[in-house]
Amino acid sequence: MFEKPELKFLEFRIYAFFDALHNFVLDSSTTCTTCGHVSTNQGKTEGILSIELRPRISEGDLSDYLDKYMSYSVTDYKCEKCKDTAEKQRTRQISTKIRKISGGEAQ
Ligand SMILES: [Zn+2]
Repeated sequence: MFEKPELKFLEFRIYAFFDALHNFVLDSSTTCTTCGHVSTNQGKTEGILSIELRPRISEGDLSDYLDKYMSYSVTDYKCEKCKDTAEKQRTRQISTKIRKISGGEAQ
């Protein structure tokens, strides 16, 4: 017979940290370089980030790939205000119950 393991509960702050890591919302904003209009796309609750590791960043570590994931340029976007189709900058925002992390800088 095995002894029944003792149940231990996580401290709330540790639980909140794990909860925030696995239940976050991924929004994105695209800024028009011509008129400055910002279009925001409300994301849904995600549990995982799929970060592209290609193309390779020479001597790059995870934070370099994460920076690229959080802020990148798009060429297939037409501004809904001025209809300009030039290359735009898109940033992603990760929201959790704890705080908001945006395009490389904490808010
Ligand atoms: Zn525009």
